Amino acid sequence: MYPEAPAPTVDSAAAIVRVVLDVPLDRQFDYLNPGLPIREGNRVVVPFAGRQLVGIVMALLSETDIPIQKLKAVLQVFDDVPLDAATFKLLRFCADYYHYPFGQTVLSSLPLRLRQIKPAVSRKTWLYRLAQPVPDDFVGKRQQVLARLITLLQQHEECSEALLGEASATWRKAMQPLLDSGLVTRREVVATRPSLAASEHEPVLNEEQASAVAAILGTLRQFQPWLLFGVTGSGKTEVYIRLLQTVLSEPQAQVLIMVPEINLTPQLEGRFRSRLSQFPLVTLHSHLSESERLQNWQAAQTGAARIVIGTRLSVFTPMPHLKLMILDEEHDSSYKQQDGMRYHARDVALVRAKQCGIPVVLGSATPSLESWYNASGQPAAGQAGRKPGYRLLTLTQRAAAQARLPRIFCIDTTHSPAEAGLTPQLKQAITQRLQRGEQSLLFINRRGYAPVLHCSACQWLADCQRCSARMVLHLRQRVLRCHHCGAEQRIPVQCPSCGNPDLRPVGQATQRIEETLQQLFPQARVARVDRDTIQAKDALTELLSAVHDGKVDILVGTQMLAKGHDFPNLTLVGVLDTDSALYSPDYRASERLFAQLMQVAGRAGRGDKPGEVLIQTAFPQHALFAALQAQNYAEFADSLLQERIALQFPPATYIAIIKAEAPDYALVKQFLTELAEAGREFIRQHVATFTDQPVIYDPVRPGLARLNRMERGYVMLQSHQRGALQQLLHAAVDWAWQHPLQAKIRWTVDVDALEQ
Ligand code: ADP
Ligand code: ZN
Ligand code: ZN
Repeated sequence: MYPEAPAPTVDSAAAIVRVVLDVPLDRQFDYLNPGLPIREGNRVVVPFAGRQLVGIVMALLSETDIPIQKLKAVLQVFDDVPLDAATFKLLRFCADYYHYPFGQTVLSSLPLRLRQIKPAVSRKTWLYRLAQPVPDDFVGKRQQVLARLITLLQQHEECSEALLGEASATWRKAMQPLLDSGLVTRREVVATRPSLAASEHEPVLNEEQASAVAAILGTLRQFQPWLLFGVTGSGKTEVYIRLLQTVLSEPQAQVLIMVPEINLTPQLEGRFRSRLSQFPLVTLHSHLSESERLQNWQAAQTGAARIVIGTRLSVFTPMPHLKLMILDEEHDSSYKQQDGMRYHARDVALVRAKQCGIPVVLGSATPSLESWYNASGQPAAGQAGRKPGYRLLTLTQRAAAQARLPRIFCIDTTHSPAEAGLTPQLKQAITQRLQRGEQSLLFINRRGYAPVLHCSACQWLADCQRCSARMVLHLRQRVLRCHHCGAEQRIPVQCPSCGNPDLRPVGQATQRIEETLQQLFPQARVARVDRDTIQAKDALTELLSAVHDGKVDILVGTQMLAKGHDFPNLTLVGVLDTDSALYSPDYRASERLFAQLMQVAGRAGRGDKPGEVLIQTAFPQHALFAALQAQNYAEFADSLLQERIALQFPPATYIAIIKAEAPDYALVKQFLTELAEAGREFIRQHVATFTDQPVIYDPVRPGLARLNRMERGYVMLQSHQRGALQQLLHAAVDWAWQHPLQAKIRWTVDVDALEQ
């Protein structure tokens, strides 16, 4: 099918093509160029292990260590716009830092269409204009189409494809010589959909907003991380819009805005489109079709799109004129990729900003302790204190004149026990809202009907056969489902252990609360929002607009509801059952819980009616609630930070974990134990080269010890310095690749891991 490679011409300067491939091997591969017009950064098709793979050209070389006759030839080259050096530099850094094969790093950063063996054609539309007068002899006698095109171009400053199409169906062919000769130039039009929101007015910035904007604009053209700390509704988005107005006034300048979740893009997109309508804007997230994704990515890569709004993967999008990056809700753990290359988009954004020499703005109402540590200037015991470079900006007030922060109360469940999940006080508050025609939101971070199915006769509990976890009861679908591996089984009619037919659901989850509310308030319109109800692309958008239109009285939902949505008529937020997170063994649990509660609380009272937040808890004295009531994240974050420093947890130290799993834990344990020993031996032997002596801990099992029939374990590596940690990691990863067991188990590296 493909021509045989011609006899190697070793003397030609760039006969050898070095490519990276999407294979789990940390190396590059050399091929011969059979005379194709190949450039660095191009996509090529090469033979590999009996298959054909897409590769990206890293270098064109005149020699290689591999004997020429052993080299295979490149089969095909695609002339898409090649990847640029700046993008490679970022990907190189990530591959090294996250210990992930470079080829897989590069290829996984691309839209799917660019990983497939076919030309990546995205439908682009262009505007054409005459650049120079057309010489009289340019048009031959019989070239009527060409003549008509030229007339159109002379009559209009710019011609759309639709207009040119009227001249002839074959206008594209006739246009080519005009483009080739430079007589006509064209520019790409990025499809700008009509704005979703009515054009917003431009508010006068308050003092804090104005000084934040001024400070950030003072650092354009240099690397500068900014932490924009402001409660929900304090006008952070308004600050972003003003920054963009100035930054984009420079010709060609591009801005990348990142959001943690797809569901947050439509809102931001709508506001940006209405306020910055003159700048082509594209979004990048997984709800786009593959061809949209390619088209938008290419619009960013060619510079045609001036604003890119995207989720975590968009941090790698090539943007030749990138001048500013913004990460909204920077504390959100969705920025961390949990499989493949386990990168954190915030950290990658910082590296990218540094490489590009531009500012990066991290916005949050509840900054991550990492960013807080870096920016707050909190002097830490035994530590150097704040890192040079980060600067903190604070917005303390809700921006809109009428909007006030909601009042937050705890309901002590030891005094007023909840019945079917709801305390009398909460029920009463909901009743009041229904009478006043206002909306309520009940937040419970567990989907399904009940988290446990229990036999009261023999204490049997429905466990997952494949995981060390309980099956969750989903009554409506009549199944037990494992939320970890997805396994499903029919609900048993009697106890599998003792035959008792009276099996009881224990605990609360969204479906059950929904059912209870329907029974308590038969007149009320109740809607549930969780991953089970919101599976279709537009389901959430539809539901949210129903809430906006007043078609819902009570919303029940998981954290899906917590983020970013604005409901002016919502005046009550009820928080059910958060106590398990208060005393969780996970040291990040309280940081996360605070952020979550702050965010749900932020849903109440966004309009002119005051909001109220009621939290059901058995621990109303907990410091977390006191801080939440005072809306004082700063103080709470400082105290959490002191705890972390005392315990030597991140961000006071850096950690990485090496995870391993296999059907047999003995193998996992052997591998990890030997790994830990090898790591310690490496430290002993190279002790003089370490500026900080890292530690490697013994293997342990995570909370979810078995997942999908795989027995899991991990070792943690820790140091006060990133460099020392990386030095140890490199040795450990090299060792792991050499180990005879490495092929029998699955092992992965997670640098700056958030979870075990
Ligand atoms: P955040 O992004 O911090 O949640 P937004 O930027 O969305 O806050 O602002 C919240 C609300 O306040 C929006 O409706 C916005 O239009 C309004 N707003 C923002 N800044 C001002 C201002 N300076 N004056 C009046 N209203 C403002
Ligand atoms: Zn039983
Ligand atoms: Zn399972």
